Amino acid sequence: MFFSVCDDVHVALEDDVNTAVLAAQKAFPSWAAILSNDRAKILWKFDDLIEQHADELADLEALCGGKPKGVFKGFEIPMTSGAWRYYAGWCDKLEGGSFPQDNGFMKIVRREPIGVCAAINAFNGPLVMTALKGAPALAAGNTIIIKSSEKSPLSSIYLGKLANEAGIPPGVINFISGAGPTGALLASHMDIRKISFTGSTGTGKRIAQAAAASNLKKVSLELGGKSPSIVFADANLDIAVKWCTQGVVGNSGQVCIASSRVYVHESIRDRFVDALKAAFEASQAGFGDPSDANTHLPPLIDNLQFERVSKIIEEGKRENTLVTGGCRLFSEGCWVAPTIFVDPSPNANVYKNEIFGPVVVVSTFTDEDEVMTRANATEFGLSGAVFSQDVNRALRVASKIQSGMACVNCCAMLDITVPFGGYKQSGWGREMGKAGIESYTETKTVLVNMTY
Ligand code: NAD
Repeated sequence: MFFSVCDDVHVALEDDVNTAVLAAQKAFPSWAAILSNDRAKILWKFDDLIEQHADELADLEALCGGKPKGVFKGFEIPMTSGAWRYYAGWCDKLEGGSFPQDNGFMKIVRREPIGVCAAINAFNGPLVMTALKGAPALAAGNTIIIKSSEKSPLSSIYLGKLANEAGIPPGVINFISGAGPTGALLASHMDIRKISFTGSTGTGKRIAQAAAASNLKKVSLELGGKSPSIVFADANLDIAVKWCTQGVVGNSGQVCIASSRVYVHESIRDRFVDALKAAFEASQAGFGDPSDANTHLPPLIDNLQFERVSKIIEEGKRENTLVTGGCRLFSEGCWVAPTIFVDPSPNANVYKNEIFGPVVVVSTFTDEDEVMTRANATEFGLSGAVFSQDVNRALRVASKIQSGMACVNCCAMLDITVPFGGYKQSGWGREMGKAGIESYTETKTVLVNMTY
């Protein structure tokens, strides 16, 4: 049985989008001019309120996508509030530069806010994405309009109430709901100066086209992935199996950096696959009622995604060797059993394309150069991992992985203090860290004639 949890979320049409843009334009000059310390205090207050209202936010996320409340409160709330706190700390640290005046000109470089920005979010981590875009945008003095995904709008709407309580001035942060057509209005709006998008590569391309065809607004894109994990014969097997399991089973695989392609050295193949199978099967105990403390895995977000993933799995079963999973869990609902395919053909859909479900493909390798070629033979480049106890090899392989993130003896990890983003068709630009806030600024060079 599939059912709708809420059918009265307001969908922003053209007039609503224009109203939000006007409000953001009106609020921009005073927000940009506010004392940086005062701006930080407001963002800290907002962050405190998010933590204080973790229960209500967890209820809304559980209602939308069946997200387990324990995981949400233990992982997504700390990550969200950590991002707001981190960027609040940047409010007074956006330094510029100055250069030698040996030719008679003093050269000063300033960082200034861009103006009215917009964010379009994917469904799988609405609060975290709101923080990764909203916090650096506001800390740098911009105003922003944030559109949630039509599949998970409720927690973002609640943030609007908390923003008011925190004293964020009207128009500085604006939450709107709606599907693709609402996002398209933002992407093509003539008065929005930057758009930051998280979602699929196909939608990202449409947004880049709309931005170029309208006012050439700046575009950041956080897109899809098909991240490789390379497990060498000297790896700690328990560690590799643990991370390769949670890296693709966590959030039921609805994670952009899911470690969905594993390459294991031929000499440990059987031991690795047996242990991975046991771990995947054991993880099934984590599915269930989102308010149950033992539940730590959600279903797929909706019927559409369930049918899409099920179709890819059925096709995979015809062409590849299934080790475990490959079917639905429970007689109703959108739960998919964690699934392992081995020895996929290089052209198989399950091997090449992002599935966004709990599905991994495991291949074997014998030689480092050969596995690097195969791991990098993809248009994606979001993340990758190497498992080895040889530090030289681990660092060498990490440097050869063509992706914005390379993990050693772990995978599918993020950290707010360091840049995150994709090579190739996994994205444009970086979120998180200093790069994240700099992407919400323009540099201005001031040249002063010192001989005048
Ligand atoms: P999606 O591309 O279907 O939708 C994302 C957002 O775009 C939604 O808000 C949707 O309403 C909006 N949208 C749809 N069509 C649009 C258009 N023509 N113009 C403007 N906006 C439009 O993605 P999804 O299914 O919500 O999310 C899954 C995808 O997101 C996966 O590919 C995943 O890898 C990716 N993702 C990437 C990251 C990252 O940081 N790199 C993080 C999370 C998810």
